[in-house]
Amino acid sequence: MNVLILNAGSSSLKFQVIATDLERIKTSSDERLCRGQVERLGGEAIITVQSRTGPRRKLTAPIRDVAAALDYVLRWLASENSGVPEIRSLGDVHAVGHRVVHGGETFHESALITDEVLKGIEDCIDLAPLHNPNNLKGIQAVREIFGSQTPQVAVFDTAFHATIPEHAYLYALPYHLYRRHRIRRYGFHGTSHRYVAYRYRALCGLTREQTNLVTLHLGNGCSACAIRGGHSVDTSMGMTPLEGLVMGTRSGDLDPAILNLMAGKEGLSPHEVESVLNTQSGLLGISGLTNDMKVLEEELLVHEDRRVRLAIEIFCYRARKYVGAFLAAMGGADAVIFTGGIGENSPLVRARICDGLAWAGLKIDAARNEQMVRREGRISTDDSTLNAWVVPTDEELLIARDTVRCILGEPHPG
Ligand code: ADP
Repeated sequence: MNVLILNAGSSSLKFQVIATDLERIKTSSDERLCRGQVERLGGEAIITVQSRTGPRRKLTAPIRDVAAALDYVLRWLASENSGVPEIRSLGDVHAVGHRVVHGGETFHESALITDEVLKGIEDCIDLAPLHNPNNLKGIQAVREIFGSQTPQVAVFDTAFHATIPEHAYLYALPYHLYRRHRIRRYGFHGTSHRYVAYRYRALCGLTREQTNLVTLHLGNGCSACAIRGGHSVDTSMGMTPLEGLVMGTRSGDLDPAILNLMAGKEGLSPHEVESVLNTQSGLLGISGLTNDMKVLEEELLVHEDRRVRLAIEIFCYRARKYVGAFLAAMGGADAVIFTGGIGENSPLVRARICDGLAWAGLKIDAARNEQMVRREGRISTDDSTLNAWVVPTDEELLIARDTVRCILGEPHPG
């Protein structure tokens, strides 16, 4: 089955095509046929495409919106020179899987899209006004182009966290705010945390019940997840993706009274304050230079800039604090898993986060840590009682597999 995976954002459409089915899932022989993205929708868009065998190509074209981007991608896929011979016409795309950001309290797992499911995703718009409408546009665009006979599946960022218990998801606010407005922790990056937990247990030959981890997804957005018996029992992102770890441009945790103070002192509206926390804070805010960890690390080597050093230090300190908190919350774990662009590529950040965790039994093996770049493997010493691993994430693979399972009515392995 050729599954088209779509991640529709406000100004971009990311896509992949993965060939998979139940047999391929069992034998891990799924095949990625191509990947790409269309960025800067609404003007002269930048299109990046790469087939399994061909080189990476970059083009530009005026593209209005998600529907036009999808049309463009499909025409490229079916063209002679796409390098994807498996797709010659629309009929060769057998199903579509969508990343959907918010499933609220309605969706505890991936769902085959029906009118009722569409309504459920619409009902979650209140919870994710910036994200769910774009995801819905992606789903509508597929319906318009393919018709309703092509099955579509929604895979929710929040679904993996549906197992978080009440005492971990409720904020200490007046309870009626939860009743009236569903104000609570939902958590995000669920597909990534779920994927790396699944990979870890496959690599170690463990059952789901034996899987006890703290997973750290460190990319542009960052979150930690406490996984006990294979289930998410707590996570650092909250009602929105703003809470928790320090991120590229997001502040993560702060004293909520600062919001009012900032508004008064800087003459900002509540909306503007939130925008500062989302887009001008985190690594960018502290360093005053960039949200890009790779650039910060390079800068540190050349200039030993105080604020660059601080940005990295605060990032790592916050992450270590969350690891400690989640170890305490779970009564220990077997491993800390690093994933996401920073987690997969930065030995420096991994070492700094783990440096203060010897008390918990975690000691980093410096040579293993240096070698483990975009590869999966253990980076702790043989005598560590709490291990550290790098596991590159692959959310699209999980979306493709969930799509197949949902269509065939197979249960999720989690
Ligand atoms: P997203 O959350 O948008 O998917 P990624 O997971 O790709 O983002 O992560 C992007 C982050 O990963 C950026 O901060 C980038 O600098 C960082 N990163 C990528 N490669 C390296 C590297 N070699 N060293 C340090 N950081 C890196």
